[in-house]
Amino acid sequence: MINIMQPSLGEEELSRLREVFASNWIGKGMLLTKFEEEFAAHVGSTREHILTTNCCTEGLFASMYLFDIKQGDEVICGDLSFVGVGNAILNCGAKMVICDVDPRTLNPTAETIERVITPRTKAILLSHYGGIACEMDEIMALAKAHNLYVIEDAAPGVCSKYKGKALGTIGDMGMWSFDAMKILVTGDGAAIYLKDPMLRNKCDKWFYFGMNVKSGSENSVAQKWWEFDVECYGHRAIMNNIGAALGLEQLKKLPMFMERRAYVHETYNQELKNIDWLVLPPALPDYVETSYYFYHVQLPDRDRDAFARFLRENNIYTTYRYFPFHRVPGFHCLEAECPGADYATDHTLCLPIHQSLSESDVAYIIETIKKF
Ligand SMILES: *Cc1c(COP(=O)(O)O)cnc(C)c1O
Repeated sequence: MINIMQPSLGEEELSRLREVFASNWIGKGMLLTKFEEEFAAHVGSTREHILTTNCCTEGLFASMYLFDIKQGDEVICGDLSFVGVGNAILNCGAKMVICDVDPRTLNPTAETIERVITPRTKAILLSHYGGIACEMDEIMALAKAHNLYVIEDAAPGVCSKYKGKALGTIGDMGMWSFDAMKILVTGDGAAIYLKDPMLRNKCDKWFYFGMNVKSGSENSVAQKWWEFDVECYGHRAIMNNIGAALGLEQLKKLPMFMERRAYVHETYNQELKNIDWLVLPPALPDYVETSYYFYHVQLPDRDRDAFARFLRENNIYTTYRYFPFHRVPGFHCLEAECPGADYATDHTLCLPIHQSLSESDVAYIIETIKKF
């Protein structure tokens, strides 16, 4: 079966892991600090604004805490968001308000967001579909006019940019995931950006029991290093040196990953453009850089489900992302009207795209699609 996504790990990561084993310090340590510094530089920021955590979903939950969102507040999110977005908003007692998306880009727009703003709206939790930027200038202007926080779920957008700025660093908070299905993988893990360095430090405490003091070794000057205080009742949501070892090597490989993914994307564009029943992903404005995380095609007039089954029978695994919140009974918004999201959900399919696809895999996928 050809996978839809797949990590690329090799000797470089293994040898870095050996160093971690030999160091006897597999937990959170200096190597993680180094990874945070290098990742921060990668997104054009610094460790004053960047920290890591064990998964991006922790970042979503943390956003509710950091911006003091609670019962009585409303948070707007796109109908086609990652499941953890709904969990984070509803868990803190706030009201989740769904907005529609553009049926072609699958992203919320300033217009669909504006329609659902009320005096109780406190934040917009934006998922950039497949790591491709929403129209941030318009959305940031709207947020400013209504005094709303903007939280960017840029989970798969590890190399994405909007007008030269890394996705995830445009709003008040942003996050990227390093889970096993993403591009830069550390097993599990994530990075968080916070515009306000004070909030970054507050988040750092939230991710470690609300404690001021981190460990005996970091606190060697203290007389009684076992004493501590807590500032809040926080989680324990951290990465470790094992993940950092993988992340540091993966960071070096990102340009190569991007080159390869861009090649697959371009090849699909060229080879599939003459199929009249298939609509290819919309061309990007020149100020948007993607990470090529999804290659989403649409079938306006043919049976998308039959297409997916046909590919699967031919050993090509595909999927559709993201199942709309307004069809999830547990999210209690079944009455929301989102025609754009409905169209996308019923006609879109994500084709395999990752850096390990071989030339013959890509040729086989194209040939099989033409047979349908
Ligand atoms: C993967 C993903 C997440 C969650 O990341 P985890 O690190 O697995 O918690 C959130 N949002 C989007 C859009 C994702 O693709």
